[in-house]
Amino acid sequence: MKTIDKIYINGEFVTPQGTEYFDLISPTTNEKLGKVRLGNTEDTQNAIEAAKNALKTFSKTTASERIQYLKNIKSAIEKRKDDFIDVMTEEYGGTFQFASVSYDYMLKSFESAINLLNNYDFTKTMGESEVQMTPIGVVGIIIPWNSSNGFICSKLSTAIAAGCTTVIKPSEMSAQQTQLILECLHEANLPKGVFNIVNGLGEVVGAEISRNPDISKISFTGSTNVGKIIAKEAVNTMKRVTLELGGKSPNIILDDADFSKAIPLALGAAFMNSGQACIAGTRLLIPENKLEETKLLIKEIASNFIVGNPKNPNTAVGPMVSEKQYNRVQDYIQIGINEGAEILTGGLGKPEGLENGNFVKPTVFVNVTNQMRIAREEIFGPVLSIITYKTEEEAIEIANDTTYGLQAYVSSSNTERAHRVASQINAGRVQINGIGHDPMAPFGGFKQSGIGREFGTLGLEAYLEPRALIQPK
Ligand code: NAP
Ligand code: MG
Repeated sequence: MKTIDKIYINGEFVTPQGTEYFDLISPTTNEKLGKVRLGNTEDTQNAIEAAKNALKTFSKTTASERIQYLKNIKSAIEKRKDDFIDVMTEEYGGTFQFASVSYDYMLKSFESAINLLNNYDFTKTMGESEVQMTPIGVVGIIIPWNSSNGFICSKLSTAIAAGCTTVIKPSEMSAQQTQLILECLHEANLPKGVFNIVNGLGEVVGAEISRNPDISKISFTGSTNVGKIIAKEAVNTMKRVTLELGGKSPNIILDDADFSKAIPLALGAAFMNSGQACIAGTRLLIPENKLEETKLLIKEIASNFIVGNPKNPNTAVGPMVSEKQYNRVQDYIQIGINEGAEILTGGLGKPEGLENGNFVKPTVFVNVTNQMRIAREEIFGPVLSIITYKTEEEAIEIANDTTYGLQAYVSSSNTERAHRVASQINAGRVQINGIGHDPMAPFGGFKQSGIGREFGTLGLEAYLEPRALIQPK
């Protein structure tokens, strides 16, 4: 049993003023793993104060100084690979496979921030004037539990690259993962106050970050509902916001695709991170005359799918993070049944032998229309809806008939055709014949999947404020 009773403010582990505790429960067994002491409003204000003081000097550091800080953090993280994977599988229930990918993603965040700093010009000429790209100020970082340290690394590395200081609020459910990254960040020896981390509730710590006038920008990843609450509060002090929200990503399989490759890929896209992924490809669009072939392939692949202990390197789908998330997924499977969709594999209840944890059966629905709730709402669990189409135009129309627009997938044996279809989908990223991450390309959503972009030059510039110096001749 671990007790996490420190938060991190101004370069030190300190005891929060908040006195409430939150239990950390294993998603795999539902046993209590430990508890975390939660920070309160005052703790958050202290963290913001520390970040504000640190900004005075940190905003004036050179790119090469900041590159050194990023390298220090990266090497501290490199020493703890197994610990990062272990704590993510234990506390969050992330599969070993996903935790390994997530660990690489953490390191890549620092590499790409260093790469950006080596190439980005903070002073530009526009028209006849000098334009200085200056650090935006203190950044509030608010993140969910589904890839906690991955989000801390991608957002913090960009903030540091830009010369900003930060106050970070992870999900309280990620406290042990947060503790580990804090140990690495502490070891990296950055100036005091550049990063501050407060464990605590969204309505308390998150709300203070959204309200506090000394926060200049918020970078948020989470649900569309909470994103809207934060944006509404942020506008009172005109904070800049970058919002990475939900998704209902379409996956168009064109009729000329190699189905023996495209279908396994589609299941990988749907069930990645046990379905708890904003970029999961949860609407599979199949040509009507390929439905029977698709069903056979899915049944075959699904029968070999390992659901269970996330520490097993072969496990494809682990438990849902919490009982609440388990119930949410069950409710949606029931909704799908009530709406008249047909279960191809999976269904309600827990898989046999896995009754103690928050395990669900990876579920594939057929006979789904794009108007059903299971096709419109983000479920955030391993539930895939198959929708058929007649023509390429109809496939694009269905793909775009959604309030979201974070990611999409297209498979075709004709690369030109895939490119043409991809170019008509309203999503921040479209993956063609595969699943990849380019840390120098922008990431973010169209429509209600968010505002702004992360990664690459666009991601960096979201942490910068341009100042034009105009000297009339
Ligand atoms: P969430 O409820 O939106 O919470 C995200 C973060 O916001 C948590 O730290 C939460 O704190 C905090 N929060 C809650 N209420 C707040 C408030 N009133 N003011 C300020 N902060 C507040 O999301 P979740 O349930 O943790 O995660 C699942 C959702 O995240 C899914 O809908 C998924 O689509 C989305 N997501 C999006 C992306 C992306 O990149 N677009 C990536 C991952 C996840 P508490 O934990 O204390 O509630
Ligand atoms: Mg929440």
